[in-house]
Amino acid sequence: MLPARTRICVDCRITLTEGESCTWLSHTAADLAGDCEPLIATVWGRLREGERPGVFSDFSGLVRDTLTRREPLLIRERERPLGAATEPMVPVTATGFRGRIAEGAVEAMPLLGARGVGFALEVRHADAVGSPIMLRDGASAGFTVMGDDGTVLLVPPGGLRMSLERGARPERPERVAAHLRALAPHAGSPSPFPLDEGRVAVLVPGDLVTARAVVSVSPDPRASTAYRDAPRSILMARGAVWIERHS
Ligand SMILES: [Zn+2]
Repeated sequence: MLPARTRICVDCRITLTEGESCTWLSHTAADLAGDCEPLIATVWGRLREGERPGVFSDFSGLVRDTLTRREPLLIRERERPLGAATEPMVPVTATGFRGRIAEGAVEAMPLLGARGVGFALEVRHADAVGSPIMLRDGASAGFTVMGDDGTVLLVPPGGLRMSLERGARPERPERVAAHLRALAPHAGSPSPFPLDEGRVAVLVPGDLVTARAVVSVSPDPRASTAYRDAPRSILMARGAVWIERHS
């Protein structure tokens, strides 16, 4: 099962799984549950009272009274959305590990109709201010990376970060929109994820990658199962994993 993303960093727009936080200590996280107002206020600005168009002259006093009693017109401060302010940061204590994705919980990914062990999505809006990045989503159901020397990195289910500059595929906007509705089903309007391009990468066993994560050496949890040849200890990733795909 892909872990749910429950929050988002409003500064670099990465989604966060339960208990996960942005590496940038100065950044602010907002809930993806509820109306997402703190995120919408960052993207579109706060609500303010706007000019009400068409206060017609020579109307009767009755109509003027009706107009003045109406609710104030509330509009957002920005006409163009604000994109991510910064790039996400790899933890300084992360270790890079190169190898092939070996084993994993291969399952249906939420985009591209593909099966894999993890995915990453980038939502872009060309007219955004600052940067075009509106969202960086990603998660994995857990997998291992096998190094050339036989060392194994175990990546538990969790957040997955990936640069989608290359090696990603465009996804149909309506499918991305459906994914965004599932991610933040009760978000208010306007959308906190204005979209005109969604790019997706799906990781599958056999992919040659460099994984960056904070790791610890752990007893191999697979040693007591059917893996007779498993090494006695492995590297275990903690927190989100950062993936660069080479093939
Ligand atoms: Zn951040």
